[in-house]
Amino acid sequence: MSTSTYALVIHGGAVTLKPGELSPEEETAQREGLAQALQAGWEILHCGGSALDAVEAVVRCFEDNPHFNAGRGSALNQQGEANMDAAIMDGRTLKAGAVSAVPYVQNPISLARAVMEHSPHVCVSGLGALELALEKDLPVKGPSYFMTEKNRRQWLEIVQQEGTRAGHDTVGAVALDQAGNLAVATSTGGIEGKLKGRVGDSPILGGGTFASNEACAVSCTGDGEVIMRGALAHEVYALVKYKGLPLAEACRAAISLRDDELKGDKGLIAIDKQGNIALEFNSNLMRRAYRVGDGEPVVAMWKDE
Ligand code: ASP
Repeated sequence: MSTSTYALVIHGGAVTLKPGELSPEEETAQREGLAQALQAGWEILHCGGSALDAVEAVVRCFEDNPHFNAGRGSALNQQGEANMDAAIMDGRTLKAGAVSAVPYVQNPISLARAVMEHSPHVCVSGLGALELALEKDLPVKGPSYFMTEKNRRQWLEIVQQEGTRAGHDTVGAVALDQAGNLAVATSTGGIEGKLKGRVGDSPILGGGTFASNEACAVSCTGDGEVIMRGALAHEVYALVKYKGLPLAEACRAAISLRDDELKGDKGLIAIDKQGNIALEFNSNLMRRAYRVGDGEPVVAMWKDE
């Protein structure tokens, strides 16, 4: 797929599910959430706004939607708390901001942007990140805001039943704006029942998040411990930039990189300077949507869609 104009690709997490693990009601709510988040970012690009603003708007929309594992709907850690990771990167300047294991913040992606724009650092974690949110007057919420019915049930299953498979998900967006700039944003509650303080791939630049106008913007989802060891987002960038692979081929090659050692769910969305887009995953589901220029929006979830 290619365009000389703007484009937006988003994801709401890649995971392997067994039949029946996703209720029809939940699937409908997630499809609606994908369409809403896509629209929020697309309006910005369509009106000539920046890729950076568009990816932040998409991710904020997901973070406020309890049907996605980010912000309000974050998976809970062993203590039943939401400890969130997020990162944003501007492909034009290579400036980036990230937060890790941060509690109580309503929109971690906007806090990541504040780190990028109003601090000398790239990544701030835990209580320090929370204090920065308070200092910047970003909204924070009490524990009950993050304890949704669904997350509470899943958390109880994990802590009470040994051997229950821990779920995971993430949200992300990559965009090309009308000025030809690329950007990426990724946000997650991480893995259900994770250790307090665990940091996934999403806030690690080159791990789960990377953008450079020289090649492409990439946001990953899946088993974070596997994705960060494969430096998946940077692998896509390197295959495009140094090996000259077409974007979709680079994404597929990155996902199967050292598959013997790096086993797990891996998914990613990517976009390049020409407006080529890619949505690749090795699981049976990746919640995803895209819109190229003023073409029709496309929303999909299952592998065979
Ligand atoms: N990559 C995320 C993490 O490990 C989870 C996911 O995308 O499913 O925190």
